[in-house]
Amino acid sequence: MAECKGCTESVHMTPEEIAKVFGETIRVKNVKLATEAEYERRMSECRKCDAFQFGTTCRWCGCLMDIKAKLEKANCPSPGGSRW
Ligand code: SF4
Repeated sequence: MAECKGCTESVHMTPEEIAKVFGETIRVKNVKLATEAEYERRMSECRKCDAFQFGTTCRWCGCLMDIKAKLEKANCPSPGGSRW
């Protein structure tokens, strides 16, 4: 599968960088979080998915999945059918 347009070294993020972005997301928005079990279930699906790139990012939405999978109302955008 081809990589995202424009995906280069700049899209690679460390777990520490992702944790910082997640903290900023929670501060800025009043969002509800998924349960830990639901987060793990979602990430398990992503890790098995061909669209999961760089160990961090969904090819279809460009989101950092460590963050998106924690948001209660988020869903998988796969055009072949949502996986979660
Ligand atoms: S298509 Fe769905 S399962 Fe695959 S990486 Fe994106 S959100 Fe995760």
